[in-house]
Amino acid sequence: MNSEQCRISLSLGGCKGCEACVSLEPECFEWNEDTERPVLKRDCLDREAAQQLVSYCPKDCISIEDDEQA
Ligand code: SF4
Repeated sequence: MNSEQCRISLSLGGCKGCEACVSLEPECFEWNEDTERPVLKRDCLDREAAQQLVSYCPKDCISIEDDEQA
């Protein structure tokens, strides 16, 4: 549990509902069937996983908040 953690934020403006984020990190994202968009349920995760998420989202909806480390 001492790998570096960081915080992410989700901005759905350009989200196309591809579900890549939910497939990649189901502990952080939940799929909302009504809106057909993901919901952020945990915003703190391993930095490497966060960077992977950022690179997987085709619409740049996910950002790393760099000011906080747990
Ligand atoms: S990966 Fe990005 S575009 Fe795809 S559902 Fe998640 S937030 Fe939306």
